Amino acid sequence: MPLIYIDYEKIGNKKVLTIEYTGFEEGFIESILSKRNIHYEKEGRTIIIENAGKKQVKKILIENGVDARYIVTPGEVFSFKYILESLSMKRSTKRVCPRCGSTNVRKVSFLSGWFTPLQFICENCGYVGVAFLEVEE
Ligand SMILES: [Zn+2]
Repeated sequence: MPLIYIDYEKIGNKKVLTIEYTGFEEGFIESILSKRNIHYEKEGRTIIIENAGKKQVKKILIENGVDARYIVTPGEVFSFKYILESLSMKRSTKRVCPRCGSTNVRKVSFLSGWFTPLQFICENCGYVGVAFLEVEE
């Protein structure tokens, strides 16, 4: 399920904002930040921003079309309905990566299947494709 996790972290004695996301196209969040002239660094898959607030970044993401339900910030109540939807989705079928056999497979983005063929990504090996085998759990 698509998720954006926004939190504060201490690096040295600096407090920075960190963003991690999954289920979106690679570079999706970065492109929004660039568009709004927000300077960021990347550490692996984590986006690091200095001098920014959680609420400010969340607002910017929502203004750029990100569904508020996908954004998780600690201390906030996560949409209960959304969790239930995700759980029931997970229970029915699982997709298996044809390359490594992992079931840690997600939709490439929440727009996938809408404008483009439904694409999936293996979170284990990074394989992207439409040919993921569906298995009953
Ligand atoms: Zn894989």
